[in-house]
Amino acid sequence: MTKKITIAIDGFSSTGKSTIAKQLAKELGYIYVDTGAMYRAVTLYAMQQNYISENHFNPNDLITDLSNISLSFTFNENLGFAEMFLNGINVEKEIRTIEVSKLVSKVAAISEVRKKLVSEQQEMGKNKGIVMDGRDIGTVVFPDAELKLFMTASADKRATRRYKELIERGDKVNYQEILQNVQERDRIDSTREDSPLVMASDAIEFDNSDMGLKEQFERIMSLVNNRIN
Ligand code: C5P
Repeated sequence: MTKKITIAIDGFSSTGKSTIAKQLAKELGYIYVDTGAMYRAVTLYAMQQNYISENHFNPNDLITDLSNISLSFTFNENLGFAEMFLNGINVEKEIRTIEVSKLVSKVAAISEVRKKLVSEQQEMGKNKGIVMDGRDIGTVVFPDAELKLFMTASADKRATRRYKELIERGDKVNYQEILQNVQERDRIDSTREDSPLVMASDAIEFDNSDMGLKEQFERIMSLVNNRIN
């Protein structure tokens, strides 16, 4: 019998973490958790309550209200992945907008927010058999994960990927705005005090700037098989 493991995927914004994570989870019959969606949902809540906008942020108001935020994932058979629900409402589309992307790193820098989400993430992965992607999975959430990957790619490749995704969804965005957002998020995520984005010392770095999805998947699957058997 093959054993179940924990797979932690971290890396910069738009490096294709979730694409590969979804594929791995499907192949292995594992749960997939997109932790970025959780930080995005908390950000959407803070926007709805007017705790944050482009010009202001009252972290204390959000912190006091955190216990009223309930996050859950529900698997959508048609899409083949779990959608994010905020207080019982499907917010999968709203959390992917550029407006949320512009504010999410500020919200994710708040320790109280991280504490809440990290403990929910650890609960989801307590029985292993999970692929989780984010920024601090291999360093903070599952420091004992059997396989840790750290994804990188050039800023230009990453912005192009994100741009195409948003245009395909019908959003009106321009490339420069996306490039700027990807770089700004990386800057905030890498320099914050609590759980900054860094590569775990035992992670394997994957630069996929010039690597197709198939090659990436095959290489990672061989690492997985190595850990499982
Ligand atoms: O993965 P995604 O790009 O959707 O993540 C959105 C933001 O959420 C990141 O830029 C980061 O600020 C935050 N995040 C985090 N820790 C995680 C996952 C996401 O701080 N584990």
